[in-house]
Formats: sequence, structure tokens, C-alpha cells
Amino acid sequence: MTRPLPRWTLPATLLVLLGLAAWINEPIPGVTGREARAVAALPVAPAFRAGQRVLLLSPHPDDETLCCAGMLNRARAAGAEVFVTWITGGDGFEFDAALTERTLHPQGRALRALGERRVGEARAAAAVLGIPMDHQVVLGYPDGGLRFLNGVNFDRPYTSPRTGASATYLREAQTPGAPFTGEALEADLTRVLRRVQPDLILIPAHEDFHPDHHTLTLFAQRVAARLGLQGRLRYWVVHGGLEWPLPKGAHPALPLVLPPLARHLPWQRVPLAAEDLAVKTRAVNAYGTQTEVLGRFMRAFERRNELLSPADTAR
Ligand SMILES: [Zn+2]
Repeated sequence: MTRPLPRWTLPATLLVLLGLAAWINEPIPGVTGREARAVAALPVAPAFRAGQRVLLLSPHPDDETLCCAGMLNRARAAGAEVFVTWITGGDGFEFDAALTERTLHPQGRALRALGERRVGEARAAAAVLGIPMDHQVVLGYPDGGLRFLNGVNFDRPYTSPRTGASATYLREAQTPGAPFTGEALEADLTRVLRRVQPDLILIPAHEDFHPDHHTLTLFAQRVAARLGLQGRLRYWVVHGGLEWPLPKGAHPALPLVLPPLARHLPWQRVPLAAEDLAVKTRAVNAYGTQTEVLGRFMRAFERRNELLSPADTAR
């Protein structure tokens, strides 16, 4: 025998369902007036000049586009020469490899294939940004491993648990077979800086919470200081705090607000014109392996401005 349900059951269930539907369809949070005013009050970054040499050091393929595609486009339009160097091949992203290589547990070979594929995408994005092939350098150090190279593996090779590699294997690496050590990475970075002789070096800030990003900050600062180029460093952030930038997805009319973890940096605003944004969107589109997984995060950088800081806070 079944007991009849209490009379309140149906209305209560309906109420819960309605609440759930309202929550799911909740308009995405926008940018608050206070956040927008803080960005509007920032000084505009100095314009790029003809003949200037601008080098971006990108921890992974796609960082150059997310942080800076718009400003790189402006730099090129102003007659500056733009260079990009990717430190890793982005070959440690297992979830990504699982989707793009269609295997449940991607291992060495699948992740190395992902590395080659992401370098191909990075070159396609750089082509969209008008960066010539001979201004692009791939170093091929291990995705997810840079912090070890700056520590216990400074002088003895690190073996990536993801790819199984302990030396650069990417076909286009600047130094094929270079061991995964901090020493080798410093030597490779030194070669790049010596050859490019950059007027501006765009790198992640310490505050960027991705370990590869804030470890690259340390490597780049060390090498730049050794070459007397430390005054040419400029900083950007891609991983700036939980959920930043909100709202997710492309919102070209909204400003890119200050990243919560790096609010205190002396940010400058780089306003983007419609053509800069169009180029940025096309560059993001070049990353098929990434947009499949992280599309809404990546497109959240398609905003009416980008941010750059002339200083970092050392820790
Ligand atoms: Zn990255």
C-alpha cells in the first residue's frame, strides 16, 4: 500500500524546480560600475613606435593571444617589430589531450602529439597577428614543469610525468635535445634576448597564479638583468584570480577589469580598436584544441582593452 504524498509535496517540488531554472538562467554577472571606473581611470599605456622591437615571452601557446593580441596588433600597425617566444609546447594539458586525441588516459605519445599540434596552432595565431616566421621561436620546455627547473632541476634534468620527455623533443625547438634544466632554459632565453635586442619584453607578472607563468617571471627577470635589459620588462596577467575575467565569453563592449590578485600593480590601459579586437578573435580561433575545452575563458579576454604594467612587485 502506498501512502498518499503530503499535499505540500507538489508545490514544494515545483518551487525548487523553478528556483533551479531561475538560477541556471541567471543573467551572467557583468562588470560593476566601480570596476569599470577603476579601469577608465588608468593611464593609457604609451603608444608603440615605428622601429621598436617588442618581444613577448609566452609560457604556453595561447598566452600571447589572451593577454596581448590586441596590443601586438597595434604595435605592428605602428611599425614596431613584434617577436614571440613560446617557452613550453603546452603538452601537459591531459584533459585537453583526452578530448583532442580521443583517448581517455592520454599518455606520453598523445601528449607529445598535442605539443606538436599546439605549436602549429601558435604559429597560425602568430600569422594572424602578422608576426613573421623568423620572429617566432619555440623553446619546448615542459608544460607544468618550469617550477622544478627553477628548483631541484636547475642543473639536473627533469622528466615530465606527462610526456615522459626529459629533453626538448618538439620538431621546431630552438635547441633540439636541450635537457629540461633551468640552466638550459636560461641559455635558450639568453640566446633569444641577445638576438632580438628587444626594446620591450612582455612577460607574466609574479601575481599570475599559474606556476609556469610566475616561474617564467623569475627566469626572464634574471636573464634580462644579466643582459642589462631589466628596465625593458613589462608585465601582463592571464590567470589573475578565481573566475577572472568575468563574465565569461566574448563581451567586446565591456572593459577588461583589474585582475583580483594583481589589483595593486601600476596598470596601464591599452584601448583596442575594432580591428584589433577582430584580429584577437581570429587569433583565439586558431587554438582549436583549446577553445574546445576553455573557449568561454579564452573569449573573456575579448574586451575593449588590455592591461600592461611597467612594474612588478618582487616577492
Ligand atoms: Zn599559460
